[in-house]
Amino acid sequence: MIPFYVAGRPASGTESLTVRHPFDTEIVGETSNATPAQVEEALAAAAAAAGPASALPASARAGALDEISVRIKRRAEEFSELITAENGKPLKWARAEVARAVSTFRWAAEEARRFSGELQRLDTDPAAAGRIALVRRVPRGPVLGIAPFNFPLNLVAHKVAPALAVGAPIIVKPAPATPLTALLLGEIVSRLDLPAGTFSVLPVPNERMAALVADPRLPVVSFTGSGPVGAQIRAAVPGKHVTLELGGNAAALVCEDWDDLDFAAQRIATFSNYQAGQSCIAVQRVFVHRSHLAAFTPKLVAAVEALRAGDPRDPLTDVGPVIDSRAAARIEEWIGEAVTKGGRVLTGGTRSGTTVAPTVLTDVPADARVCAEEVFGPVLVLTAVDSDEAGFAAIDDSAFGLQAGVFTRRIDLAFAAHRRLRVGGVIIGDVPSFRADQMPYGGVKASGSGREGVASAMDDYTEPRVMVLTGL
Ligand code: NAD
Repeated sequence: MIPFYVAGRPASGTESLTVRHPFDTEIVGETSNATPAQVEEALAAAAAAAGPASALPASARAGALDEISVRIKRRAEEFSELITAENGKPLKWARAEVARAVSTFRWAAEEARRFSGELQRLDTDPAAAGRIALVRRVPRGPVLGIAPFNFPLNLVAHKVAPALAVGAPIIVKPAPATPLTALLLGEIVSRLDLPAGTFSVLPVPNERMAALVADPRLPVVSFTGSGPVGAQIRAAVPGKHVTLELGGNAAALVCEDWDDLDFAAQRIATFSNYQAGQSCIAVQRVFVHRSHLAAFTPKLVAAVEALRAGDPRDPLTDVGPVIDSRAAARIEEWIGEAVTKGGRVLTGGTRSGTTVAPTVLTDVPADARVCAEEVFGPVLVLTAVDSDEAGFAAIDDSAFGLQAGVFTRRIDLAFAAHRRLRVGGVIIGDVPSFRADQMPYGGVKASGSGREGVASAMDDYTEPRVMVLTGL
């Protein structure tokens, strides 16, 4: 039985949690859910560890973060194989995720060294002559980090690293399908000499999450996951500081001026299918200027058909299974609905078990679920637009707003896209799926509120506290 970590110490519960490989349901490992008493122990320890008495100096926080980064890197292959086993993403994408987590922790170490607050002059107002303000950021209190299944390591890292960087205790709740990677990270963190209560990683069944979310000892809730659960959390704890990193139906636009259709087709094919489309910024909708449609369509279809779907343990596999058969059946149903509504399948459209063939659809009305909702599968909808402006409008015609990709080399169009698109990020010259771990990352509309990215999350986990100095 693989242990979880209560206030930094390994523990096991009485209710076992079996993790299965999404490709063939083979057992990957066995852990257990934390009991209510163990959850209480973690909560009490986190509350006791909050506050200045147990605060580590920046050197120790940064040192611990650097050490975590080094130890993940040392065990990179073990992490990658575990991610592939419990999540089903091909090994090459698991390795990419591990490399990102290494850099997320390293970046957090650097930010921990820089995190200094601000000195503000106040004498711009004559009444405040001789005064300055010292603005420090202090942790709001212990953080509850709730993580999804699609990046079992790096999205846990995005909660743990900023918390350690600012000195906020954290309780991490991994996704039930992929807890083992978070537990391996827990093993690494628990071996460091951090104050007791700083870190817990607890598998908790969804039905028992309401009490944890509502617990007043956790003033910050950082949630990454689906929209309905995020909305439920937001409504349940209106008085808490809640960050919601939710879903999307990210779009790419190939503008009239774009001259490298091979590159655009290649990038769009790769990033609608990476991790079997189970990324909140996987390309789901592609809009192409009508002048390119005839040349672009066969290139896109060829690039998608070149991807190999199958067993993620095979190094040649590009597209692994989706997380479970329920997800695969839902995606198949949505493709069926699109076809019923007049859509045409240009390639794919089938599934075998949990593996959905990389699919390109066209002529799909915007109200079909493969367009309007988050498909979270390897499905792309291709639509022609008559102008770049119409492309921007089509991108924005969505309940979501996470990131958008705009293939243009025109600086005025880049700025126009940045000005008008209602998203958290615009990627010029590439797909919406680009993310660097230090940049502010998050969405608007139904894609959530608040930002992750190490420095943004550090701001999020802290609040300013001002000291006004007089007589200077
Ligand atoms: P999910 O909402 O089903 O689960 C996310 C987490 O919430 C899991 O740990 C789950 O156990 C927990 N949870 C479930 N019910 C809960 C409840 N009632 N109270 C508290 N916690 C509860 O999402 P998922 O299927 O694991 O992940 C996929 C979703 O995550 C997609 O919608 C995807 O777009 C989104 N996502 C968003 C981002 C982002 O940064 N915006 C990144 C990755 C994934």
